[in-house]
Amino acid sequence: MKFRRDAELDKRVRELPTMLLEVLDQLEGHSFIVAAGEVPIFATAGTEQLGILKDGKVQSPELLATVRVVRRTNKTQTGVIEIPRGPIGEGKHELTVKVIPLTQEDLVLVLVSDESEAQRVHDVRRDFVANISHELKTPIGALLLLSEAVLGAKEDPDAVVKFATRMRSEAKRLTDLVQEIINLSRLQDSDPLQVAKELDVQDLINSAIDQSQISADSRAISVSNLPTENVFVLGDHEQLVMAIQNLIENAINYSPEGTKVSVTTQVQDEIVTINVADQGIGIPEQEINRIFERFYRVDPARSRQTGGTGLGLSIVKHVALKHGGEVTVWSAPSVGSTFSLRLPRYSETKELNQ
Ligand code: ADP
Repeated sequence: MKFRRDAELDKRVRELPTMLLEVLDQLEGHSFIVAAGEVPIFATAGTEQLGILKDGKVQSPELLATVRVVRRTNKTQTGVIEIPRGPIGEGKHELTVKVIPLTQEDLVLVLVSDESEAQRVHDVRRDFVANISHELKTPIGALLLLSEAVLGAKEDPDAVVKFATRMRSEAKRLTDLVQEIINLSRLQDSDPLQVAKELDVQDLINSAIDQSQISADSRAISVSNLPTENVFVLGDHEQLVMAIQNLIENAINYSPEGTKVSVTTQVQDEIVTINVADQGIGIPEQEINRIFERFYRVDPARSRQTGGTGLGLSIVKHVALKHGGEVTVWSAPSVGSTFSLRLPRYSETKELNQ
């Protein structure tokens, strides 16, 4: 991108060595060159999107001050600046800038890299690790206390049985939690579409229902399904079954005994929607947006009772996103909930025609 304002600036742009501009275009990140009067005369593609240049001006007062320091001292400076992402809201781009004096008297080169994404990933990791440590502490603490109780009750066989039974359920909780953490971190690292296969949606639903059968039987809940034929998606079998199964298990866990869960499939506009509907406790409206967050539970006590880890829905959300789809929810307290996993439909003829 070149900024043309007057003949003099135009001439300055033409004088810039072509090789320098080619190199800048190839560099990762963005860059621009500022002439005297802090006028940008050249910027690589996409720099304006960062909001750092607008209407032919450098937008950040901090950056302008740094450019002046560089001019005065003739020494490179590095720093971090923040640029608002939009006219409203608190979102900010955090940009690392390196300001370099060029040999041509008044020209200064600014190299910009956007650290916001790297920072976001770093923050998510840090929060996740903090949450995991907290979640692991509870069952581990319980196991420690229970093992001491067993030691203290060695003369009383009934008490030993009681404490050991609780130890077993805490150990199971710990195993489930560790397994879900492994599932989630695998999902975050892998790209299922790199090993994608053509998958029959009905097969996926059948496997998920099979795997939920024991929980359904234990709560006298019937899981019904109206089979569909010849509906395919492209993706990872194991991940998609895990996502559908998580939705079915939740439908079972958050419903009164003896109720019904139904799994249906719809196809519309090349999107396959797998709906899992229950007649359960529902989700209050103000909680709906939060339930997909890791370790978020509407009612921690109930989730603990059902052995929930608080990770199920964030796994479903990840699987959906990684397959180019989404998960949506409709819910009304005391009426029930319907979770919909929406995925792009795969049809062979479409792929062949492309
Ligand atoms: P958990 O392991 O606690 O079930 P999830 O991530 O699967 O964790 O779900 C998060 C929370 O969302 C649950 O603790 C529960 O409060 C709520 N929830 C999920 N599915 C349903 C449902 N079908 N009906 C009512 N509440 C649900």
